[in-house]
Amino acid sequence: MKRIAILGFSLESNAFAAPCARWDFEQRGYYRGEEITAQARAETPAIYAGVSGFYAEMDRLYGAKRWQPVPIVHASSQPAGPVEEGFFKELLTEFEEGLRAGGALDGVYVAEHGGATATHTHDPDGEVFALVRRVVGPDVPVVATLDLHSNVSDVMMDSVDVMIGYRTNPHVDIYARGQEAARVLGELMDGVIATSYRVRLPIVAPSVTQLTAEGHPYGDLIRLGQTKVDDRVMNVTILSGFAFADTPKNGMTVIVTTRNDAQHAKSLAMSLAKAGWADRHRYVPRMIALDDAVAQARSVGIDPMAPSLLFADPADNPGGGGRGNTTYILAALLKAGVHGCIAGVFFDPVLVEQARSVGEGNQFHAKLNTRETARFSEPLSWDARVVHLHDGRFVGRHGMVAGKSVDTGATAVIALDGVTLVVISKRQQCLSTEFFEAFGVDVAGARSVVVKSRGHFRAGFEHLFPPERIREVDVPGLTSPNLGNFDWKGLPRPVYPLDPEAAWTPTA
Ligand SMILES: [Zn+2]
Repeated sequence: MKRIAILGFSLESNAFAAPCARWDFEQRGYYRGEEITAQARAETPAIYAGVSGFYAEMDRLYGAKRWQPVPIVHASSQPAGPVEEGFFKELLTEFEEGLRAGGALDGVYVAEHGGATATHTHDPDGEVFALVRRVVGPDVPVVATLDLHSNVSDVMMDSVDVMIGYRTNPHVDIYARGQEAARVLGELMDGVIATSYRVRLPIVAPSVTQLTAEGHPYGDLIRLGQTKVDDRVMNVTILSGFAFADTPKNGMTVIVTTRNDAQHAKSLAMSLAKAGWADRHRYVPRMIALDDAVAQARSVGIDPMAPSLLFADPADNPGGGGRGNTTYILAALLKAGVHGCIAGVFFDPVLVEQARSVGEGNQFHAKLNTRETARFSEPLSWDARVVHLHDGRFVGRHGMVAGKSVDTGATAVIALDGVTLVVISKRQQCLSTEFFEAFGVDVAGARSVVVKSRGHFRAGFEHLFPPERIREVDVPGLTSPNLGNFDWKGLPRPVYPLDPEAAWTPTA
């Protein structure tokens, strides 16, 4: 009987956003003990998909009689600011007590994000990994999955046996990486020795340049890495990292893990890093100006034969710590009198309450961002009509939420002249067409769509919007791909493309 502990801390921290604490995790996903197992095996789970994939693969490999989950705690928040030290220390204590109470363990799976910072350290993920290693000792295999927006520290490298990063952006392989973690853990429990080598490049890629589809540099590099996986190479992970964490550990990172072949791990990691560096000039964003976006939205709004367009607001991406409520694009569309536009999802619990008190079908004067204090989240007032009210619960069908339970909190659809806006109470990005359709808003029939998302929406809208009908709009915000807009304090400078003169010399 293999006894495997399962735990994890999942947060992507934007240094320019307000700190987060227990409430942020409890609202998104704070699972203890058997809740983790129940969620992992649920038909439409809400828990992090890596945990579900891990359980499914362990069940397949070992069957219920040959492995026993020892679920500890899995805590995940929407991307936000740094985690507050007090809460984080409580969480570490929960991890430690759970691991100690779990008795003798054969392995540990850590379902981590890896892009967190804390108010007391730039490396809380390192603290989690180090704690696990300290408690279970040097001989118990520990395998972690990481978001490809993870920033990797020495402590993280030294504390776990194998780190497995996502290979898709939008992240549609989280479940598969959980499955891979189970297979890797199985090998380690059978006595295989994992040997890793890491190279960090001085490339801090703007978020919108990190797509993995054909024709994108990051995808090309990941695919190159996967051609090297063989009997010797257990895993190739290439992490583009999360710029807005603003830490000294930022920088695109190549990790090659071999079956006990240190020399090969090093030479392969170095050759992949060289390929990534040679391609650095492709990590430069190509957004369009707000005026252009409005003109295009206006044009398709009055021409029913023109293909509809999707406009992304990557600068206010809740998936990167944005508040999901800036009004730059919305205000410009309203002032231009755009027709046939749908927009969402807009985070404003006060506005939802206002709409609920007014009731479906009734007119009111909508006031946006009345209680929001974040920079960039400017107020806006406009006459509106309440189209639909909803509890915000649905099951996703496309992209990253396919088959998953989603909860946007109390939700209101309001019409502001030619723009239909979906307003939510639980901050999150717009991941698929169901973020409109579940609330009765027709996406296929819209002339233009505006989404609060940097790039994950692509997987959930691709059945209606191929890449050539998607525009990224350059407006201000906490997650602007224009990295020159920010006052960086932690990044290891110089880094490309922020510092075009950045240099890198392979040291192998
Ligand atoms: Zn990510």
